[in-house]
Parts: sequence; C-alpha cells; structure tokens
Amino acid sequence: MTTSALDAEIVIVGAGVVGLALAQRLASDGRSVLVIEQHEGFARETSSHNSGVVHASIYYETGTLKHRLCWEGNPRIYAWAEAHSVAVLRTGKIIVALSEEERPGLDEVYRQAVANGVRGVERITGARARELEPYVPTVEAIWSPSTGVVDAYALARSYEAEATAHGALIAYRTTLVGAERAAGGFALTLRDEDGETSTLRSAALVNSSGLGAAEVAALLGYPLDGGTSGGVEVPVMRQTSNRGRYYDVIDPAVARLVTRPVYPLPEHAAGGLGVHLTVDTDGGVHLGPATEWMSDEEPRDYLNVDDPTWRASFLRAGQRFLPGLRDEQIAPGQVGYRPKIQQPGQGLTDFLVWHDRGYVHLGGIESPGLTSSLPLADLVASHLSR
Ligand SMILES: Cc1cc2nc3c(=O)[nH]c(=O)nc-3n(C[C@H](O)[C@H](O)[C@H](O)COP(=O)(O)OP(=O)(O)OC[C@H]3O[C@@H](n4cnc5c(N)ncnc54)[C@H](O)[C@@H]3O)c2cc1C
Repeated sequence: MTTSALDAEIVIVGAGVVGLALAQRLASDGRSVLVIEQHEGFARETSSHNSGVVHASIYYETGTLKHRLCWEGNPRIYAWAEAHSVAVLRTGKIIVALSEEERPGLDEVYRQAVANGVRGVERITGARARELEPYVPTVEAIWSPSTGVVDAYALARSYEAEATAHGALIAYRTTLVGAERAAGGFALTLRDEDGETSTLRSAALVNSSGLGAAEVAALLGYPLDGGTSGGVEVPVMRQTSNRGRYYDVIDPAVARLVTRPVYPLPEHAAGGLGVHLTVDTDGGVHLGPATEWMSDEEPRDYLNVDDPTWRASFLRAGQRFLPGLRDEQIAPGQVGYRPKIQQPGQGLTDFLVWHDRGYVHLGGIESPGLTSSLPLADLVASHLSR
C-alpha cells in the first residue's frame, strides 16, 4: 500500500449529477474538493439511464425534500441549462385519463399538485388535451406547463466542467473500498483499476454514490437497518434496486406524433409513475420506465434484451397512448436502476440526506434527483458549513 499525497478537505464519492452538482457548488465557494468515481468517466450509472424529465413537483407529499427540492430545482435546471448550452426543452406535460373510469384518478394527483404549488398546473378537458396531443385519445387531463426535458448526460458534463474550472479534482477509475474515522476526519482507502490501493485523509466525506450508497455507509460501520451507532441515531440506509426498462419508438413517423411527455395515472406502490411516453431533446420518443423489484443477488445489467413478454406489455401500454402503434415500431431501449429505500408495496419514501460529524449520506436518490440536483447540492453544502 502506498500513501497518497491527495489529501482533500472534502471527498465526494460518486460522479453522477448529484455528486458533480455538489462538487461545482463547493469548488465555486473556494473549498478543496476531490471526487472519487469508480468508472472511467462521469454519469455512467443512473445519471445517464433515466427519462431526463425536468419534473414540476406534482406527486410528492407536501413539505418533503422531494417536493421542496424538485420545486426549487425545476426553474434552476432551465436557467442552468440555458446558461451552459445544455439542451433543454420546455415542453410541458399532460397526465391523462384515457377512459371514463380513470377520470376520478386525476382528482388525487391534481389535489397534490395544487397543494405543492406546481407552477401553472391546470385541469383540462379532453378537447383541450387533444389540441396539445391530437393522437392521444384523452378523456380529461392535468396540464403541467413547467415540466420539460433536459439532456441529462450533457447536464452532468456541464457540472463537471464547472467543478474542474473552479479547481475540483476528479479521480476516475478509483473505487472507495475502505473508510474509517480518524483524527480530524476520515481515513479513506482507494483502489485503482490495477488493483493498487492508496490511502487519503479528508475532513469531510459525502456519500453520493447512488446505487452504492448503502455499501459505502457500511464501510464506516453504520447499521443499514437503522439503530444506534456510537451514541448516534442512524436512519434506515438499506437500499433495494428497482429496474426501469424502456422500449423506444423507432419509427420516426410515429415519434413525430408526440411532442411532450404523456403520463398515465401514477403507480406509486409499484415503485414508479407508470409506463409513460417521453420525448428527449433529440426528438426521440420512449416508452417506460417499467418497474421491477430486484433481489440483492441480481446483477444490474444495462443491456435490455428483447423479450416477448416485455415487448407485449410495452406495446399494450404504448397503444393506450397511440392506438395505431404497431409491434414493429418499437425496440428495446435503455435500462435504469432506481436506488430505493422504499420497500415493495410501500408508498413513496423521501430522499435521505443525513449528516453525522462530517459524514453526509445521500440515500434513495431516485426520481426526481436529476431535477433536484442543484438544491440538493446547496442542502449538502449547508450541512458541511455547520
Ligand atoms: C429509470 C429512471 C428514470 C428516472 N427519470 C428521472 C427523470 O425523468 N427526472 C429526474 O429528475 N430524475 C429521474 N431519475 C432519477 C435520477 O436519474 C437520479 O436521481 C440521479 O441520476 C441520481 O444521481 P446520483 O449522482 O445520485 O447517482 P449516480 O448517477 O448513480 O452516481 C453515483 C456514482 O457513484 C459511483 N460509485 C458508487 N459506489 C462507488 C464507490 N465505492 N467508489 C467510487 N464510486 C462509486 C457510481 O459509479 C456512480 O457513477 C430517474 C431514475 C431512474 C432509475
């Protein structure tokens, strides 16, 4: 083992959108920051395998972090993207009732959206919804004009550029494999791609490792199911992964029929918002993400192999929005994995932002983590200045 000279004031584990948003925030404040990332570049996991929707804060319980940070993050993502030449579209979105039976389901979603102060949200008739999206047979809808879509990978790149321009260092191909408290902070063990280990000291440690957040907390000896550790109350940090598969609409003529995200009524207990139609900043149209709870042993594979059962299920979901959609017009798309503190069958859980003597834990940073990335960074920065 060698001793590295790379001592830093603040070490952030994870170069996804959240870790990088924080790195640029802290580096802009003149703090010394080192980001540790196991992959060869930024945003290789959840931050590049998502819907890229700039959410409006419609669904979350009022007053939760998800509600507050998403609500604040929404205009900030547009402003940031426009200032840093990141592709973003203010498309708006509709949440649709597609049958008479679904109409009452809009009541609860609308009530929550109004309670959350969602900007410009309106209940609209089927006729008005069909003016917005003529090919979707909507009976009634909720119109959210402040929802949009952003190029998530380019957003991460812009955060990385801003962080490094302000002096943050990023160590790619480097995995955090050991952590313990030491005088004045933390002693960290890092492993590079050749299997070489080195040690490093930091005053503060931010765990922004997404799907790896519980494993990193375990390195410090925290009990993952909650309890007390060293006289401190520890929250539940254990995470389960929930796979979100997509199928893409591959016929450009069909993709041109939709110009904004179209969502069904949400399925919170299933772990998601229901398979929806999303557009991306390049004009692509995608169906997804589905929800599949996984066991801890199952590998997180980013390859979405075509499967007749999934294909049929995505086609059925797609045909509810676009009745003329045909089997040959869709193909397997990307796969993303939601880091869930929520257990199967439970309602939505909040983001976990927990601070213990220089350690900040970010847990369950699923959707709307992309939209919330800038206010999340501010929240962590405020913990670190205490
Ligand atoms: C299917 C799906 C759709 C979504 N859609 C949206 C959406 O439309 N809008 C929205 O706002 N949000 C959405 N989200 C949520 C959003 O994508 C995430 O909240 C966000 O990307 C999380 O970023 P992150 O930086 O916390 O995590 P990640 O992007 O996962 O980054 C964590 C990083 O930590 C690294 N790491 C882990 N362990 C270690 C270690 N020991 N050492 C070194 N590095 C380590 C990983 O390699 C990874 O790069 C979606 C998520 C999913 C899964």
